[in-house]
Amino acid sequence: MNLDQHRYSDNLNRQQFLQSINKQTFDLIIIGGGITGAGIALDASARGLDVLLLEQKDFAFGTSSRSTKLIHGGLRYLKQLEFALVAQVGRERAVVHQLAPHLVIPEKLLMPLVKGGSYGRFGTSIGLKVYDLIADVKKEDRRVMLSAEETKEREPLLDENDLEGGGYYAEYRTDDARLTIEIIKKAIEFGAVCLNYAEVTGFEYRDKDISGVKIKDHILDASFTFNADYIVNACGPWVDQVRSKVGPLGEKKLHLTKGVHLVLDYNKLPIQQSLYFDIPDGRMIFAIPRGRITYVGTTDTNYNGDKGKVRAEHADVAYLIDAINETFPSVNLDISDVESTWAGLRPLIHQEGKSPSELSRKDEVFESENGLISIAGGKLTGYRKMAEKIVDLVAKKMKKADKKELKACFTQEIKLGQDAFNNFKEVEIYTQTLIEKLSMTKLEKGTADYLVYNYGKGLEAIIIDIDTSFDEASLILAELKYCLKNELLYSSSDYFNRRSGRLYFNIHTVLKHKKLVHDFLSNHYSWNENQQKQDRDQLEDEITNVLHFKNSKATV
Ligand code: FAD
Repeated sequence: MNLDQHRYSDNLNRQQFLQSINKQTFDLIIIGGGITGAGIALDASARGLDVLLLEQKDFAFGTSSRSTKLIHGGLRYLKQLEFALVAQVGRERAVVHQLAPHLVIPEKLLMPLVKGGSYGRFGTSIGLKVYDLIADVKKEDRRVMLSAEETKEREPLLDENDLEGGGYYAEYRTDDARLTIEIIKKAIEFGAVCLNYAEVTGFEYRDKDISGVKIKDHILDASFTFNADYIVNACGPWVDQVRSKVGPLGEKKLHLTKGVHLVLDYNKLPIQQSLYFDIPDGRMIFAIPRGRITYVGTTDTNYNGDKGKVRAEHADVAYLIDAINETFPSVNLDISDVESTWAGLRPLIHQEGKSPSELSRKDEVFESENGLISIAGGKLTGYRKMAEKIVDLVAKKMKKADKKELKACFTQEIKLGQDAFNNFKEVEIYTQTLIEKLSMTKLEKGTADYLVYNYGKGLEAIIIDIDTSFDEASLILAELKYCLKNELLYSSSDYFNRRSGRLYFNIHTVLKHKKLVHDFLSNHYSWNENQQKQDRDQLEDEITNVLHFKNSKATV
């Protein structure tokens, strides 16, 4: 279809654009702009399909901006004997790293072994070895078992009285929302039409089969219908809500569990490196240093509340603070030390009698009698393979119906990001040069890492736009211009949350610059009073959500 991705980014063009595309029939409509939908859009458009992706809020609004932000094989799932899952997502780690070396970064994890803990030295040694072998981990990255002294040396904050040793192994870290947005941008390059703020409210039918969707466009406050030969529901925690619009759910249903992370100033929990540790109730917790902060998570509890307003309660945060104080006794943290939080829902498949942590993380495909294909479950890490599975299914149906014949999946060769890096070494050299350049400015230490990891070489367009004061406010304005031009940004919260991650990782800058950002966007989009209020309310709502634990005393 070859559209300029920003043909529809202002209101007038969006109106004309939506009116023009609702006359055509797409090959594939994807509902849901999280990592799963984004992955499918890229795979399908790269294989030559006419694709329309519809997201009710912003891209990555759901679970795909609220994960632990690791590209990992799921070591824990070995204990549940999920070998196939671990092998598949484990192998995907290296593939996704190759595709976006600035965004999927090697991260060694230390797993301390403590007296009376859930993991013994022998079992951990074998477990980590199996983990490396089934995921094809390169020799130089394979696990190393450490003595108590070596473990303490790598992480001095651990309690030496309890330490029996440690396992040291390889994973990757990422930014889930940025990864989703880079995949969306790449799908757009391949011709996919990807719309945020376009909520699917119902379906169109030809005879008894679904043939299209009705949408409410929240930018234009107008309704449209779009037609397609095939429709995929990739709505994560909302999958059943959308499935129920076309018929009864049947036996297989989603089971939602909530996971919470908390954010601390790095100096409050100054760990030398990422850790994966067990706590007395048997759960495993991650602690990840990331620039000026350290984040810790996650919880795993059943959830039946509002899917659009998932947040950390006081009890969730207290649980994680206890876990930190137990593991790092010298830090002595309190809930008031927590700067920000996020909470997400795992869209898992219900299995009778299983607790949240025991539920399988495998993905599952459902097909309704009238033709809706739904996919749920799975991991961020496995998005590419989930997409391949769905597009292969669509290809099979097209072949049977004598429509197009599709080539095989080749997303393992499609690099993500502008002018992509070839490997991590290049990323390191590039970052070093930028650190030197920025050291002469008023920008805080860590800005170079932030820019490279968030925007890759796209940062060059941002830097050119920073005015001569080269301070935080001018950087934010330059980022905004970049996101408006390249990343389908519509609101202050799109910027502070899913484009820059500031809401979680640097909340002070949100409080300080929210007016600047709002005024800039208001001017850019010529918002009326109502639209201005909507933007302010949306951001205030998100700020209230991440700080909600401070005022809530509710039980988990
Ligand atoms: P979502 O990201 O939720 O996307 C679904 C989208 O559909 C949403 O954006 C929603 O707004 C949209 N939608 C809903 N209804 C409609 C409608 N009617 N019309 C249009 N759009 C609609 N995986 C890893 O690999 N590594 C990790 O470290 C990791 N950590 C995790 C930690 C936690 C706490 C949780 C909860 C999950 C974690 N996962 C991790 C799993 C991973 O995050 C999820 O599997 C993945 O993000 C799910 O993506 P999705 O696209 O299926 O769902």
